[in-house]
Amino acid sequence: MAGKVPLFSIEASNRGIDLAGAFNRVANSNWFILGNEVTSFEREFAEYIGVDNCVSLANGTDSLELALRALDITPGDSVALVANAGFYGSTAVNAIGARALYVDVDAASLNMSPAALRELLSCENPRAIVVTHLYGQLAAIEEIVAIAAQAGIRVVEDCAQAHGAMRGGRIAGSFGAIGCFSFYPTKNLGALGDGGAAVCSDQVIAQKLKMLRQYGWNTKYSVELSGGRNSRMDEVQAAILREKLPHLNDWNSQRRAVARRYNAAFNDLPVTTASSVDADYVAHLYVIRVRDRDSFRACLGEQHIATEVHYPIPDHWQAVYTDRSVSPREHLPVTERSAAEIVTLPCFPGMTEAQVDRVIESVYAYFERESAQ
Ligand SMILES: *Cc1c(COP(=O)(O)O)cnc(C)c1O
Repeated sequence: MAGKVPLFSIEASNRGIDLAGAFNRVANSNWFILGNEVTSFEREFAEYIGVDNCVSLANGTDSLELALRALDITPGDSVALVANAGFYGSTAVNAIGARALYVDVDAASLNMSPAALRELLSCENPRAIVVTHLYGQLAAIEEIVAIAAQAGIRVVEDCAQAHGAMRGGRIAGSFGAIGCFSFYPTKNLGALGDGGAAVCSDQVIAQKLKMLRQYGWNTKYSVELSGGRNSRMDEVQAAILREKLPHLNDWNSQRRAVARRYNAAFNDLPVTTASSVDADYVAHLYVIRVRDRDSFRACLGEQHIATEVHYPIPDHWQAVYTDRSVSPREHLPVTERSAAEIVTLPCFPGMTEAQVDRVIESVYAYFERESAQ
């Protein structure tokens, strides 16, 4: 029996990166917060995304919350978002005390459905829309931004799974008013701990984000904005991310190559595969839909193939909401149906051909057993 195939390998992803060099550079500088590494990373990442500003932050969830605060979302406002994206956007909306208005997703991409958004806007007035590029697949962001612009609503992109996904020469994070990123270690661009960023081209918004990440300070010890906190990225993480950023496109290609092999191999099987394996998908997670997900997972588990479910409980069904009224539209048929069928297969940079072969063989073995029954 061959070895285990993990869902992700930090070791394979960080191989060949001079982590110690980056760390020593910071240690020897004796400057650990908001110094040259942070400033340089912010410039380099903004350039990569194709926007004017990047404000580095402590994590991705803060980036969503502070983005909404920078757009002046306050308690009592409502925010439109999907319910199948791990509660991250919901955490940000709830932290502000705003109301989440959940929008159903498109059956093929599992990203926000523009049609469902239009329907919501016919009877509700959200002040912002959070669009998650789920699994690394760019949403129908151009159409959503157009719908939002017509209604005078700002769009925040959650790019925490979509670093580098692009369509028409534009990269995730450059379509909406603000693009939010996480650099959690397993993300397509990951630090050696927590990290996040918000990118935008608007100077005023960038200035607000900088104030919000540091207590609401206008200048030192002078607090001007409410909703501030300490949400700084430290120099070590920025230095590590600077080492890794030049490799992002290559890692994304490696992930996409794995996804392409899976999509081609599973073509004849009764599964729903990734809706795109082009540049608009950076394969953060390779997710298929299977009718009997539990027996599928058990079968792959026996073959020592790791699987996971991203995410098992739709946001509007989370226990935290049980005694609160969430939204007038709590029935999200596509979100609910897909939550019972989605399953994530191993897909990561550095994954070997042999590992991909083993996953494919195990998936075939499951369906052969199924059809024999
Ligand atoms: C990981 C993730 C986040 C949160 O990032 P943290 O850095 O863990 O706070 C937000 N949104 C999505 C879609 C994510 O995958």
